[in-house]
Amino acid sequence: MPPLHYNTIAQIAHSLKVGETTSVEVTQAVLDRIKAVDDQVQAFLSLDAVDAIAQAQASDERRAQGSTFGPLDGIPIAIKDTLAVKDQPLRCASKMLESYTSPFDATCIRQLRDAGAVIFGRLNMDEFAMGSSTENSAYQTTSNPWDLGSIPGGSSGGSAAAMAAGEAIATLGTDTGGSIRQPAALCGVVGMKPTYGLISRYGLVAFASSLDQVGPFTRCVEDAALLMEAMLGKDVLDSTSIRPQGDTHYVQALQKKKGPWKLGVPREFFGKGIDPEVKANIEKAIEWYRSQGCAIIDISLPHSDLAVPVYYIVATAEASSNLARFDGVRYGHRSAAADDAVSLFTKSRGEGFGEEVKRRIILGTYVLSSGYYDAYYLRAQKVRTLIRNDFENAFEQVDAILTPTSPTPAFKRGERSDDPLSMYLSDIYTISVNLAGLPAISVPSGFTKAGLPIGLQVIAPAFGEADMFAVAHAFEQAHDYYQQTPKL
Ligand code: GLN
Repeated sequence: MPPLHYNTIAQIAHSLKVGETTSVEVTQAVLDRIKAVDDQVQAFLSLDAVDAIAQAQASDERRAQGSTFGPLDGIPIAIKDTLAVKDQPLRCASKMLESYTSPFDATCIRQLRDAGAVIFGRLNMDEFAMGSSTENSAYQTTSNPWDLGSIPGGSSGGSAAAMAAGEAIATLGTDTGGSIRQPAALCGVVGMKPTYGLISRYGLVAFASSLDQVGPFTRCVEDAALLMEAMLGKDVLDSTSIRPQGDTHYVQALQKKKGPWKLGVPREFFGKGIDPEVKANIEKAIEWYRSQGCAIIDISLPHSDLAVPVYYIVATAEASSNLARFDGVRYGHRSAAADDAVSLFTKSRGEGFGEEVKRRIILGTYVLSSGYYDAYYLRAQKVRTLIRNDFENAFEQVDAILTPTSPTPAFKRGERSDDPLSMYLSDIYTISVNLAGLPAISVPSGFTKAGLPIGLQVIAPAFGEADMFAVAHAFEQAHDYYQQTPKL
């Protein structure tokens, strides 16, 4: 057995059930681990240890009375700084929300509490979830536990790094263009983005509302399935949430669904820009599926090369509108240097937002402006439909699609921070999935020669989570990549 802080949810649920451990012990193990390694990793922005232990004690008391809530009861789960947790800071790693404390729980947090989870900690991220390296945080830079000089990916870099470092048993992140899957791949853990609308966005600070989804980071696919079962569902507080369709018994599906599957490999994803080690690794993973009797089908997603430009129009347009509320009057930092109404807005926003957020607001405002709306925003929406159609056509032939999650392994800190365009390309394999509203998961698929993790992405049709989990689980269980941990 690995040390307690590297156990899976399933392992801990079992240990708790047979009385080998307690939630207080597990939570303390995680807190001790944070004390030992977070100086180096810098995944946590803040932590309320007293509150975490109190929740763990309550879980142990329930158990002692024979009334536990199920497999998540007593499991410590840490949260990205963009999800509202009652009485905890909610800063989105921005100076704009420096002194904000949430008065309420996001719906997904409430659901996890109802399942007995111990909700703790605020995990670092790119400011307002804009970025691919977590270097856009206004507070600190998180390191990749596999190589402290490299970035953990982003925007949910804190959530991924905390998992890789054994600082939580599971974490939550959010994914607008790849922010769960890309850092999961770069940190060697499992990260999953659900079908759009499957999880409520109530209590998630909006970046681009038509793309944002909450999702889990875990050590293994089964744990992701467990968390998804607890969080899915229609929520009256989020009108874009939807009643789940299809098979939602995800954990059961891992045992029931054994393939062989018809798996599509989009040829556009293996061309220029991909790191040769990543390419070889994913090709090897595809060969493994073939060796298991799966049909590997060459498919085309012809509009893939338009995904990044379309995303940076749609996402920035929505962001410029969502972030208009942070003006120092309704929400957010208020400048002390203002001397009239207009300078109150401009100075508050100028001081509160970082460089990348400002860049996105300016870009988004531009593409929505009256002279350019048709040329940019409207056209982008049309191309978005073409991208969705590409996937629909592909899924007429295949059950799931296999791709690399990220074109490269983790890069060095500072390597791309002065070059926004090269940073934007970190998400070329994940962004089209958000534009189409589909579910996808990244599972560890090996390491580079330098010892950096690589991730395999499995994409499924809308509401195809059960199959997506089963396909990913089959690969995971036949390899031991997900059990490896960094030397920290
Ligand atoms: N890296 C992408 C961006 O900067 C995606 C971010 C995300 O998924 N939140 O917008």
